[in-house]
Amino acid sequence: MSQGDLNAEYTQCLQDLSLASKILAHHGIVDGFGHVSCRDPRAPMDHYLLSRNLAPALVEPGDIVTWRISDAEPADPNSPHGFLERCIHSEIYRHFEDVQAVVHFHSPDILPFGLMPIPFKAVYHMASFIGSEASPIFDIGDAFGPGTDMLIRNTTHGAALASAFAPTAPSAPTRPLVLMRGHGATLTASSLKLAIFRAVYTQNNARVLTSLSALTGGAQNVALGARFLTAEECEAATASNAGQVTRAWDVWCTELGN
Ligand SMILES: [Zn+2]
Repeated sequence: MSQGDLNAEYTQCLQDLSLASKILAHHGIVDGFGHVSCRDPRAPMDHYLLSRNLAPALVEPGDIVTWRISDAEPADPNSPHGFLERCIHSEIYRHFEDVQAVVHFHSPDILPFGLMPIPFKAVYHMASFIGSEASPIFDIGDAFGPGTDMLIRNTTHGAALASAFAPTAPSAPTRPLVLMRGHGATLTASSLKLAIFRAVYTQNNARVLTSLSALTGGAQNVALGARFLTAEECEAATASNAGQVTRAWDVWCTELGN
């Protein structure tokens, strides 16, 4: 790819990250907090792109900063301040070379599933990427004791979270979504638009499970009686959804007025 093409792709990434941030806010997946990143197409193994410290709904292309994957520090030392939790992104990119985008969010819809072992599995085809096994829960207290402020503040915390996406070190996570006790969740994808798709349908999956729990008299009944998608259904539906990501992205952008 020529330098001109790379620069054009980089410019598009800035635009798309701004839109992605606003879509997440529009859907209530993030509020004043939470963030989305992607690799920098100009140096994908070394750098990633993430907003300066700013509420997602307010992120414009000019707010995006280039960060080093090696230590989550800015590529340009004169850059504005970043999110405290940017090590979430750097460590996932460092661990999994096939991950292209990361979303971290604190949605109250997802929080209950990180507090108790209520199985968070795919309940419908649009959320099939979640899989047929309960999503892993990262408990910062298990890794770093009972006195943290729950935040992923450094690369050691980030590496511990990244390891929850896969027990070993494959190029891609074995589980694309990790719930975080008392904090929220983080998910990964092979593209920025797919990451947003997954965030929206993770939220919907959580809402369906909560509704089902209310209808059936409790989460225990859901765990015992719900007919979650099978592993084969998850795989087939995820393949079908792969061709529909842009359709969803386009309508979500339109809802923003773009
Ligand atoms: Zn957080």
